[in-house]
Amino acid sequence: MNRRTLIKAMSYGAASVLGGHLSWRLAESWRAGYELPPLPEPGTEPPTLLAGAPPADPTADEGSGVSELAGAPHGDRNRPSYLEKIRDFDRSYSDDYLLEGVQLELLASAARRLTRVQRVFGHGNFNLLSFDGMLQVSRRYSSIGTFTRRELDFLEEVFFIDATEYGFYGDKVLTELTAEIAERETVKVEGTGHYLFRGGPQAKYEKMCKDLNGDIFLTSGIRGLVKQMQLFLDKAVTTDGNLSQASRSLAPPGYSYHAIGDFDIGKVGAGLDNFNDAFAETEEYKRLVDLGYAEFRYTPTNPFGVRHEPWHIKMKV
Ligand SMILES: [Zn+2]
Repeated sequence: MNRRTLIKAMSYGAASVLGGHLSWRLAESWRAGYELPPLPEPGTEPPTLLAGAPPADPTADEGSGVSELAGAPHGDRNRPSYLEKIRDFDRSYSDDYLLEGVQLELLASAARRLTRVQRVFGHGNFNLLSFDGMLQVSRRYSSIGTFTRRELDFLEEVFFIDATEYGFYGDKVLTELTAEIAERETVKVEGTGHYLFRGGPQAKYEKMCKDLNGDIFLTSGIRGLVKQMQLFLDKAVTTDGNLSQASRSLAPPGYSYHAIGDFDIGKVGAGLDNFNDAFAETEEYKRLVDLGYAEFRYTPTNPFGVRHEPWHIKMKV
């Protein structure tokens, strides 16, 4: 078991019992390969994502979606139902999970640094960048600056926390922080700045474009762990640290099927309307459905805690 596998195992298991302190210490030893940070001052309690958070109960009547999908009545107005939350997704609810204090500061500083990495690395290539690659780029360019110990702890916690804690119920498709995308298995789609995996996704996209006479295009293809982290943190900044609200529009890092084959399409010339329900009203969407492409990941009643995304094409079951 390598150190990162160990930290992952501890984060899922013992660390939750020991209140996160153990994972903090293990995180310190893990990063010894990159730098040699001092241990926290004696008596210093490291911040953890779950510190002060209410215990989550994904089996609560508004949480799993299963009960309402089975026809259970809505609860009282103070306890919005699961479907109400994913319908009116971009607002806060009283039982949402919020970052506070130093965690909010770390969210902002880590998000800014990730944006600087993207600027230096290039928007297209950033989609494929691995966590290790991100660390190397940040060390090499002074315009980015090395990630601080606390920022890295924060990113680790965002990755390893069980997302059901804040209301996201999708599968974790990447379980390793060090997951890498083999560039030889990808193809850059001309004119879009995005990549697709060779094989199924590329073939499906090309057939869709041909069947729709070039009226659609790729708006987002492969997104590696770092790209998803940047999108999720940026969204969480706009929600003032509300991770529940952020996860209703964007899968948290590790949970996005964009890392393993799914992709987004849009109507040529539709601009931002490619990313709201208006897309489902377009001729292009209706033609896709009629042609049998109606394999959409996030339907209006999806059980993952995510808004309706008619533009997101499902590749893997
Ligand atoms: Zn998508």
